Amino acid sequence: MDVSNTHLLDDAVVTTTLDAVIDWGREASLWPFVFGTACCAIEFMATAASRYDISRFGAEVLRFSPRHADLLIVAGTISYKQAPILKQIWDQMPEPKWAVAVGACASTGGFYDNYTTLQGIDEIIPVDIYVAGCPPRPEAILDAVMDIQRQLKREEKFALRNEEFKGELDDL
Ligand code: SF4
Repeated sequence: MDVSNTHLLDDAVVTTTLDAVIDWGREASLWPFVFGTACCAIEFMATAASRYDISRFGAEVLRFSPRHADLLIVAGTISYKQAPILKQIWDQMPEPKWAVAVGACASTGGFYDNYTTLQGIDEIIPVDIYVAGCPPRPEAILDAVMDIQRQLKREEKFALRNEEFKGELDDL
């Protein structure tokens, strides 16, 4: 065989970069940790169930240990009492990781403008995607997952991340 004939390899060999392969794998295997505290969590349950079927996007392996997860989905109202727990869960997730605020409450406190409610999870952790609605429909949650995947594909992992988060609990 003439090994100098590179055409023999045309259909057999694919070249790429290690980063592209890793991002491709990550994109199709996001492992969500769902911090569900209120009604929006029910919407997430619908998203994961058979009708909307989040497994079509490779993100059905829900983990309840932050050390196994790379996608934090916060769905529901977060009180100041819960805030340190949420922050600890985020800190325990290994990098690279992403955070999605599902619904008005997680994004801004929603209509709970009172002394018990965190006015958006970006007071304590950085957020990659905010999902509007009270509650958002399952399609909107799936769109957030696809947005994260689009970021991974473009290798701009943190392009949409809110870098201005306030870090209220960082010094505790
Ligand atoms: S945004 Fe609306 S639906 Fe979601 S947790 Fe808040 S009150 Fe419930």
